[in-house]
Amino acid sequence: DRFDSLDDKLPDFLLTNLLGVDRMRYTTPTPIQRHCVPLALAGHDVLASAQTGSGKTVGFLLPLIAAVAKNRSTAGKETNNNNNNNNIPPIIKGKTPSSPAALILAPTRELALQIELEIEKLTFGAPLPPISSENVATRWSACCYGGATARPQLEALASGVEILVATPGRLADFLDRNLVSLSRCQFLVLDEADRMLDMGFEPQLKKIVEQNDMPSRMDRQTLLFSATFPEPLRRIAQKSYLRPASARV
Ligand code: AMP
Repeated sequence: DRFDSLDDKLPDFLLTNLLGVDRMRYTTPTPIQRHCVPLALAGHDVLASAQTGSGKTVGFLLPLIAAVAKNRSTAGKETNNNNNNNNIPPIIKGKTPSSPAALILAPTRELALQIELEIEKLTFGAPLPPISSENVATRWSACCYGGATARPQLEALASGVEILVATPGRLADFLDRNLVSLSRCQFLVLDEADRMLDMGFEPQLKKIVEQNDMPSRMDRQTLLFSATFPEPLRRIAQKSYLRPASARV
């Protein structure tokens, strides 16, 4: 029941940053992490019942970052197969739209920024090798949210990112304008899904998951975290977001 028991499944930098003296000092998983992390590392979709304060953020970030880091080691092959970004207009002069390997959707700007901060801590010192000769990620993450000017967010995205943290409204807007592509997105997290629905984001979520270049639920891994599971959320989760045989924790 310690994180170091996962040392054969997590990249070295993740354990170093989790346990390291100067870093986070998380030695023992919280209950949600103990249940969710091994299932997600084994490739399952997970429907997780988790409140704020339960450690849910690290619960989805560990398997997500491990999956992205693993993809990188086979990146040459991946990008050659999936590189269908050619007819999307340039995001910023001379650049093709960024296509992150993982997407995390959160209801508010505060939560999105908090998640990005946790990504920065967990990926501290982790190498960023080029994805392919044309497509070089220069940052692990970018964060896109409403109520702020788009340009700095687009510049961060354009530098090439592995993980995009976004609020649904701003991302739907960027997708409408072809400023970001989801074609390479192999990992999706819906955080505080009940709050996203309460805030009226269902149309934007639908647009994002049904985006035609977004890998279908059968071709990606999806983790859904929520404090409550009202019937409409249960229904939409099973119908549109998660693979039929998802785990529940
Ligand atoms: P969250 O529920 O994701 O908002 O996390 C609640 C708080 O618990 C955050 O401040 C985390 O940094 C912290 N935390 C997450 N996982 C652990 C852990 N395994 N051990 C100690 N603290 C943790």
